[in-house]
Formats: sequence, C-alpha cells, structure tokens
Amino acid sequence: MIEFKNVSLTYPNGHQGLKNVNLKINDGEFIVVVGLSGAGKSTLIRSINQLVKPTEGELIIDGVDTLKLNDRKLKDTRKNIGMIFQSYNLVKRMSVLRNVLTGSLGRTNTLKSMLGLFSKEDINLAMTSLARVGIEDKAYRRADQLSGGQQQRVSIARALTQQPKVILADEPVASLDPPTSHVVMKDLKKINKEDGITTLINLHFIDMAMEYADRIIGMREGEVVFDGPASEVSEKT
Ligand code: ADP
Ligand code: ADP
Repeated sequence: MIEFKNVSLTYPNGHQGLKNVNLKINDGEFIVVVGLSGAGKSTLIRSINQLVKPTEGELIIDGVDTLKLNDRKLKDTRKNIGMIFQSYNLVKRMSVLRNVLTGSLGRTNTLKSMLGLFSKEDINLAMTSLARVGIEDKAYRRADQLSGGQQQRVSIARALTQQPKVILADEPVASLDPPTSHVVMKDLKKINKEDGITTLINLHFIDMAMEYADRIIGMREGEVVFDGPASEVSEKT
C-alpha cells in the first residue's frame, strides 16, 4: 500500500506543488489522476518514487516512510516502481530489445548486465514483455524507427521487465493521437488486471479517465479535490 499522510511539496522557488495531500492507494488499484495543466498531477506521481521529494509529511510504501530512507534503501524501493513518461525516454539509437532490457538492470544488477551482457532469462523476459504489448516483431528495430504509439509500448515493456509492483505513467498518451492513446491505455489496463501491478496514470482528458479508471483522483492547485470511482465524477468536478 502507498499512503500519503499530510504530504506537501514546496519547490525551491517557493511554489507549492502539493498541499497537504492525504491518500491511500491499495495494491492492484488502477487510478487515473486528472486536472488542468499545472494542477500538480505530475508532482503527485513523481513524488511516489521521489523524482521530486515532498518537503513535509509522510509517504509510506509497504509500511515504511520512504521520505526517511537513505539513498541505498530508496534505490531498492525504486526497483519496484516502473516509470512511463510522455516522451517515452528511450535511447533512440539503441534497438528496441536493448531498451527493454535496461528495465531488468535494476532487478538483476549484475556486472555482466551492466556491461550489456544480459542472461537468457533477461532476454526471454524482455521478449515476453514486448509480446504482451504486441510488438515483439519490432525487437531488432532501432527505437527511433518506431511510431510514437509503438515507442510508448516499448517503454511499457521496459517497465514490465523491471517486474515492478507499481507503474507510474506521467501523461503517457499526451503525445499520441486518440486511436493510439486507446491502444496504450488498454495495454496498461490489461497489465494491471493480469499482473495486479498498482497503476497510477496522469491524463488531462477527463473522458479517457472515465473510460478506463477504476478510481479517479482530481487535482487543482496542488490539492486533491476529488477522489472516487469514475461513476461519481459529476459536472461540478
Ligand atoms: P501537472 O502535472 O498537473 O501539469 P505539475 O505537477 O507539473 O502539474 O506542476 C504543478 C505546479 O508546480 C505548476 O504550477 C508547475 O509550474 C510547478 N512546478 C513544477 N515543477 C516545478 C519546479 N521544478 N520548480 C518550480 N515549480 C514547479
Ligand atoms: P513534463 O511534461 O516532462 O512534466 P514540464 O514542462 O511539466 O514537462 O516540466 C519540465 C521540467 O521543468 C520539470 O523538471 C519540471 O519540474 C520543471 N518545471 C515545470 N514548471 C516549472 C516552474 N514553474 N519553474 C521551474 N521549473 C519548472
């Protein structure tokens, strides 16, 4: 479980990214975070793996306040958290397979894998992950030869190869056209249901959130202003 207890985050310039956030996120939930640009969605999601670090409160993951962890322990926590970005963040000139294999680095962490010599199991896992998002036939293509939607599915496969407990997706479909966005959202949902990976996704389209989310968290000016099932989202929120 992930629990935010009175979490606030003030950026160095004094801007408050999060204001007294309280949330409980249960294992296996599929949550979409919505809100206007600048509402704090990205800050909320990125604080879970401390890409940005809250300045107040407690952020408890599986019973441990992760804001108090030293760097080594924080690294262990991050191994269980896969991250997906709007801009895919692939190594453009590397093959799709190699990009996906980098997901297993955190998990295995052997010198061999650091040097790019992955084990058979790693490669099998990477290929299986690619198959799960339907692009195993692209394994030996250069990452930047793929379409945007395909690149985002590569980044999902990379996250899967990490065998995470949690997936954080920060505007994963913001650069994609609507049909491709649906493919990516369906992949994320399928993986959530099959593997029970807790999933948090930032979206700025409420209609897409309503279509896929089991639970919607609405943000405005750093505060959580809505938290409930999609069926409870009303006109006023
Ligand atoms: P969203 O994801 O909902 O668009 P963000 O979490 O990215 O919102 O940003 C929330 C607010 O915090 C915005 O006003 C943004 O400009 C501000 N912000 C984000 N990152 C920083 C930063 N590094 N320093 C100062 N302000 C920031
Ligand atoms: P992304 O889509 O990757 O979240 P953003 O434009 O929101 O891109 O932010 C890009 C970077 O700029 C992030 O590191 C964010 O923290 C930082 N940032 C965003 N808003 C501000 C701000 N008002 N002041 C300083 N840094 C900011």
